[in-house]
Amino acid sequence: MLPRDLPRGDPRGAGGAHALQAGHRGAGGGISRRPHLSGGPGRRGTGAAQGGPASGALQHRNPPAREGLRQGPHRTPRGGGAKGHGGGIGGEDPRGSQGGREAFAGGAARGGDVSTPSRRVYALEQKSRGRKVAAVFPARYPAELLWAREVCPVEVWDPPAGGQAAQAHLQANVCSVVQRGLSLWLSGGTEVADFLLFSHTCDSLQNLSTLVPHLLGEKRPCLFFYPPKGRRDDLAERYLVDHLAGLSERLDEAAGRAGEGALERAVAWGEARGRALNDLYDARAAGGLAASNEDFYASVRACEYLWPEEAVQRLEAFRRERSGPSPPGVPLVFSGVLPQPAGLLARLDGLGVRIVEDDFLACGRRFVRGALPPAGEVLSTVARRLLALPPCSTAGSPVSDRLDFLARLAGRSSARGVVFLSLKFCEPELFDVPALAEGLRSRGVPCLVLEVEMGGEVPAQTLTRIEAFLETLP
Ligand code: SF4
Repeated sequence: MLPRDLPRGDPRGAGGAHALQAGHRGAGGGISRRPHLSGGPGRRGTGAAQGGPASGALQHRNPPAREGLRQGPHRTPRGGGAKGHGGGIGGEDPRGSQGGREAFAGGAARGGDVSTPSRRVYALEQKSRGRKVAAVFPARYPAELLWAREVCPVEVWDPPAGGQAAQAHLQANVCSVVQRGLSLWLSGGTEVADFLLFSHTCDSLQNLSTLVPHLLGEKRPCLFFYPPKGRRDDLAERYLVDHLAGLSERLDEAAGRAGEGALERAVAWGEARGRALNDLYDARAAGGLAASNEDFYASVRACEYLWPEEAVQRLEAFRRERSGPSPPGVPLVFSGVLPQPAGLLARLDGLGVRIVEDDFLACGRRFVRGALPPAGEVLSTVARRLLALPPCSTAGSPVSDRLDFLARLAGRSSARGVVFLSLKFCEPELFDVPALAEGLRSRGVPCLVLEVEMGGEVPAQTLTRIEAFLETLP
């Protein structure tokens, strides 16, 4: 079954760019070389702000932020009633007490000492400003095209709604990102959105993009983004520019045309956000950011729904206010889809683990590392930025590229090892992780592979394995 109204440049259309989807065989149970979706910034608490004990102290400790997780303080610019946690149109609620409708709403975060409202409150605020809201099933997509039309993308990664409601429609071996995203939609948690955008990150997400409009009767516009897989050359750029032009036409229908110069402004916002993220990651890697793991990812993952200008301000404020020596701890690189389960970051703070770099699909793999020269034509600039993102399982990148990228992250941050959080049933990541771990070990980088699931609590076995790994590090 095909989505309705295939956009121009859609590889599923006649004469499309299948050739660019190296190794990908499309939806419907085909074997994609790589498949992804996701979640809100972590909940904000007041505790654990300075990380855990020094590296020697590895005993379990209930993170003092627990109360903070329940009731993170919030100040909203216009007094919106925020929820005290991180879920949202897409984030995990560590309290596990919110239903899907509230969920599209979760996702509070602070930048420095600045609080942000929940995703739902934020989306409603954006609408009160005259903007539209799009529920975006990520991971990679051209946000600039939405910003240029005054549309605020709110990403659906790890909404707090459990996956139960989706079980009637999905196989049991579909990842929890898709299970939760569909449960959120079924519960009405995305109703604040004017339309939905699905990125073809993996087969599971492509199936979701078919299921929602065609079998479950979604009436709002459903748009699709098909990034090229496995190549970054001129042909990939030409395909992508053409596809972006087609997507722009669909966006014109769903949200209205972009004003004069609006896309150029949006591209500049995207570049500014990328610079702010680079600066923040650089500061952390150099040991110059006094922030816990929890606070860091709350700040970074707020980009999943904040208007870009606000995101930049908050990222810069966070870096400024947290400038100073990083908390003590064992420096490690983390890889995976996203930092889940939700309680993990606080636990890592408690264990004295300091994440100094990450290769999370939702975080460190979603901004261009370093600067990119301008491309001239604006759609080419958008295309080049997408193609220049770090190597990724969902983009069909060669494992050797990912290996080099991870080794570079570990080197530049003086990490003592790499931890893979392998999300259960995430096919694209499962393809790569064994080879990545083996490759890193052969380069002398200790690795730990953990299978994880979404949820609030961290299994004791997971904590025990992390502790044991820390004890083996040179
Ligand atoms: S299979 Fe993996 S890449 Fe695809 S939606 Fe699930 S977590 Fe994301």
